[in-house]
Amino acid sequence: MSSQTPPAFDRNDPLGLDASLSSDEIAVRDTVRQFCAEHVTPHVADWFEEGDLPVARELAKQFGELGVLGMHLHGYGCGGASAVHYGLACLELEAADSGIRSLVSVQGSLAMFAIWNGGSEEQKQRWLPGMASGELLGCFGLTEPDVGSDPAAMKTRARRDGSDWVLNGRKMWITNGSIADVAIVWAATDEGIRGFIVHTDTPGFTANTIHHKLSLRASITSELVLDDVRLPAEAMLPDATGIKGPLGCLSEARYGIVWGAMGAARSAWPPPSPRSHRCSPASTRPAACESCTRRTKPSCGWTSAPWYRSRSESSRPGPRNGPAGRRRTATATSRARSCSTSRCGAWS
Ligand SMILES: Cc1cc2nc3c(=O)[nH]c(=O)nc-3n(C[C@H](O)[C@H](O)[C@H](O)COP(=O)(O)OP(=O)(O)OC[C@H]3O[C@@H](n4cnc5c(N)ncnc54)[C@H](O)[C@@H]3O)c2cc1C
Repeated sequence: MSSQTPPAFDRNDPLGLDASLSSDEIAVRDTVRQFCAEHVTPHVADWFEEGDLPVARELAKQFGELGVLGMHLHGYGCGGASAVHYGLACLELEAADSGIRSLVSVQGSLAMFAIWNGGSEEQKQRWLPGMASGELLGCFGLTEPDVGSDPAAMKTRARRDGSDWVLNGRKMWITNGSIADVAIVWAATDEGIRGFIVHTDTPGFTANTIHHKLSLRASITSELVLDDVRLPAEAMLPDATGIKGPLGCLSEARYGIVWGAMGAARSAWPPPSPRSHRCSPASTRPAACESCTRRTKPSCGWTSAPWYRSRSESSRPGPRNGPAGRRRTATATSRARSCSTSRCGAWS
């Protein structure tokens, strides 16, 4: 048995990963972490309460600018980053909120990956650059009301009519469904399961938002209805055949979700006890004082740090400017209770 003393537990790095990261991996991680601290964390409690992500499209464009949409894919305006870069981005996104990670992984690992992996050259050129920039939002329609865990038994059908395809069926629990520009829809055909690129303004396509979710509330989830949706032959993904088409996309997404789970675990870790907690006004690294970084009351030395100042400014009145934004800030404030942490008096 080894007599080596295990490293001290760090609640900001529960798995002790930081020491194995290169400087550019740390830079990617810190960039996404800071983005979330500025644009997600201050608002996510309100989005959760609303059961909505009212700024999904704006966030998508910001994520596009940040380079995290399809960041692990190569070419067509995608980032071409490593698997570790992508994983770290998912970890930080999910540390802020699972719904936000979901927005990014559905776009990059499901919708974009389906086109990148199974699409024609024309399809890739047509869709991927806009999706990487966040100008175009995609969704991925596999799950159905009756056969969620058994996609091979799907009832959505695509039948040939001349050179066209005609799709009928329903998809359930589809992230970003009602705000998407394009839906990747999987359907049974006489030649097995095939994937189709559906413009969401195609006649016969409807998306209904699902309300009253218990979790992933800061996320838009929808039902897709396909009622005689007529598509040209070139809407079909030529290189995605059979059930391995959609399942390959799920495997791709699961990789990011695994990293995301570590971010969720980090956020779930309880804050340090009042006795052990000491704010460090001299430091500018938010991770060193987690108790303060999540709060809005500017009362300790952290408030002079540049990242804190820009976060505070950008969080008022919120991504949706105007009275509604101010109202949400006030609601969050009235819900806040004073933190027992002796020196910072931050709010929880
Ligand atoms: C917020 C949210 C977002 C989602 N986003 C998307 C999306 O973007 N695209 C998409 O296609 N899908 C999406 N899904 C669907 C998700 O992938 C499905 O919920 C999942 O596949 C399970 O299907 P189901 O909900 O119909 O559960 P069911 O299939 O009804 O399963 C219910 C339970 O029974 C268990 N079970 C089922 N069959 C068996 C069996 N044979 N033996 C033992 N246990 C079994 C399951 O493990 C599960 O615990 C989303 C779901 C949610 C909640």
